[in-house]
Amino acid sequence: MTQPEKVDYVIVGGGLQGCLLAHAIAYHQPGAAVALIEQADELCGNHTWSFHQTDVPEQARGWFDPLVVHRWPGYAVRFPGLSRRVGIPYATITSTGLRAATMALATRPVPAAAPQPLVVRVGTSCEILSPTHVRCGDHVEIDCEVVIDCRGRAALEVAHGGAGYQTFIGHEYRLGRRWPAVEPTVMDVREDQAGGFEFLYELPFGPDHVLLEYTRFHEEPACEPQRAETLIAARLAEAGVDSAELIRTERGCLPMPYATPGRKSGPAVAGGYAGGWYHAATGYSMPLAIRFAELVAQSRPDRVAGDLAVAAADDALRRGFSRFLNRLLFCLVKPQDRWKIFRRFYKVLPEDRIARFYGHRFSAADAARIVIGRPPSGLAPLRFAKSFFSLSRPGFA
Ligand SMILES: Cc1cc2nc3c(=O)[nH]c(=O)nc-3n(C[C@H](O)[C@H](O)[C@H](O)COP(=O)(O)OP(=O)(O)OC[C@H]3O[C@@H](n4cnc5c(N)ncnc54)[C@H](O)[C@@H]3O)c2cc1C
Repeated sequence: MTQPEKVDYVIVGGGLQGCLLAHAIAYHQPGAAVALIEQADELCGNHTWSFHQTDVPEQARGWFDPLVVHRWPGYAVRFPGLSRRVGIPYATITSTGLRAATMALATRPVPAAAPQPLVVRVGTSCEILSPTHVRCGDHVEIDCEVVIDCRGRAALEVAHGGAGYQTFIGHEYRLGRRWPAVEPTVMDVREDQAGGFEFLYELPFGPDHVLLEYTRFHEEPACEPQRAETLIAARLAEAGVDSAELIRTERGCLPMPYATPGRKSGPAVAGGYAGGWYHAATGYSMPLAIRFAELVAQSRPDRVAGDLAVAAADDALRRGFSRFLNRLLFCLVKPQDRWKIFRRFYKVLPEDRIARFYGHRFSAADAARIVIGRPPSGLAPLRFAKSFFSLSRPGFA
């Protein structure tokens, strides 16, 4: 065995969190040496990651803004009995763009004799041996000041019965004619729900370029490809599109926990999905992944674990409330009525509260405004109240 290599940070997992963190460290600590290790053959998988522009704190914009590939001034939601335009700017980064930007960071010219600040290893599974030591593949060992675990769901065990699921099937098309909308529709909900909460999500990337994604919230992690095909085809027909070239497909499944998922092992500081730095109720990772990247990059290796623990404790009530909302959705409301919770959210909340909710910055008053009011149909007030006051005991009474 050769001598271990030595760097300041080892980031294990080159998905959304790992790559954002590499950019934040390069921006705030340009002299730091970072190794980013990804087990797949390339970084970032196959995703379109959207977010509200209000999720991005001012201090992160210097490194984050160049990663954004599409922006819109607002978006629409459509439910039976409610259509609304939300004037919060919405934006997207893509796997392709983030991968290219991260590889560019790793290959940028450095002064002669200076070490390369970011080294990326792909196709290498990494084992975390201690908070400061990893093994990559069979032979290469790396010592560092701090290991950051960004392995996503691979680092977690989600207990059965402790989560519902958000499944997605998205098709990106090049069209033979102009798409009728210029802004996204983040929820297009029809009354005819197929046994869970389902909707279409629409991102117009250009006049003849659109992503249509079918999303379903369900107790089971099962995809419904046939249902997705039917609804996407119906939307294309409704838009008058008779020729569409499918240029990319994206699919996935995200657990939406209503109990705290257990970590398999935990010698390292963990970010992203592995560390609970995602919005459990919306499935959007971006706000908390940016916050985590900023916290690590603005801290120092010897105090990062403490700084993150303080920030996580500060967020504990919001994390608990998000899990409570998942329990409301998956355990307390009849599947066919789930969509009414989302309609009510968009009916009663003003834009500033919506922005704080998606950004995981909501106050106790915001949380109260989300749940106080007429309970969703089929939900007895007493049962709702009992569940609210027993957030640690998920159950489907
Ligand atoms: C279809 C879909 C659409 C989504 N849309 C949005 C959206 O619009 N906006 C948003 O904010 N969020 C969205 N999400 C959620 C978001 O993609 C995830 O929550 C986010 O990717 C989590 O980031 P992460 O870095 O923790 O995990 P991941 O992005 O999953 O990255 C983990 C990485 O670690 C690697 N890895 C695992 N084990 C090892 C190992 N031992 N050694 C080396 N590498 C390892 C994996 O290969 C992977 O590349 C979506 C999710 C899905 C499935």
